[in-house]
Amino acid sequence: SKIPIGSPVRTQAIVNRYFVKAKKNLGQNFLVDQNAILGIVAAAGIEADDQVIEIGPGIGSLTEQLLLAGAKVFAYEVDDSLPPILQTELPQKINGVSLADRFKLILKDVLKADFKADIGDFFDFSKPIKVVANLPYYITTPIIFALAESDLHFASLTLMMQKEVAERLEAKPGTKAFGPLTIAVQTQMQVKLALTVSHNSFMPRPKVDSSVVVLTPLTDKPAISNREHFNWVVKMCFSQRRKTLNNNLKTLVPDKDERKQLLQCLGIDGHLRPEDLTIAQFIEIAKEIPAK
Ligand code: SAM
Repeated sequence: SKIPIGSPVRTQAIVNRYFVKAKKNLGQNFLVDQNAILGIVAAAGIEADDQVIEIGPGIGSLTEQLLLAGAKVFAYEVDDSLPPILQTELPQKINGVSLADRFKLILKDVLKADFKADIGDFFDFSKPIKVVANLPYYITTPIIFALAESDLHFASLTLMMQKEVAERLEAKPGTKAFGPLTIAVQTQMQVKLALTVSHNSFMPRPKVDSSVVVLTPLTDKPAISNREHFNWVVKMCFSQRRKTLNNNLKTLVPDKDERKQLLQCLGIDGHLRPEDLTIAQFIEIAKEIPAK
């Protein structure tokens, strides 16, 4: 049998055969490190017959290992030169089952996905669906928001992203990385850092290292009735990160006395910087600010 797609030799052979040019504007950095690839599959806890959505399969290095681990894979890709390569290079039979029964690709921007409609005739919605991806870095945050807010309730999201973004996802209050992204995600999911991957593991090499993060829905989500409003209030509180909360609140609550009363009533010190508040305190603040 062939050596894995994610080995440097095989990737190079595919690049030569199909004249593949990694497209920078699509965030194409192909994984060429079998340890990292298997690390992602392990972090996602893939078992036989798991239903997996993959975002951006590229030339299939991760897709191949997901399939070999027994998963059924539905992939979103935007580069129309890739599907013929994937169809040829991915294993044609997996444990006696044909590739067509285990793998389906849709040429579509994942940010325009209608998961239920797209996947309907391939996946069984009564069973868990996992997302696994080596994300295109130019749209990491919008993708995380789209997945977190999707009406499909994913069992887990195992996502590779820039190390800096992963640090923001798992940040604790009182640290520089703590901010609106941290709060938007941690109010919905548990964040676990699974592994760090060197920039040397990619072709072409990005400037920075990457991390794989596993996000799982919180069983006990804090009550936030209006997400959009909540995210907006948090964003306003962080509009000038180095200024005090009192200062940042000026746009939301222009009246000085009202502001003082609000903070007093919530028992929050207005001299704190936004990063020093807890997530629970942001939830309290948002409740007191009327929706736009
Ligand atoms: N999974 C492959 C790997 O690990 O080697 C490729 C990962 S590469 C970092 C990101 C992939 O996402 C590319 O194949 C790129 O074409 C694709 N992509 C970029 N923008 C996308 C979008 N809006 N929707 C879906 N896929 C996208």
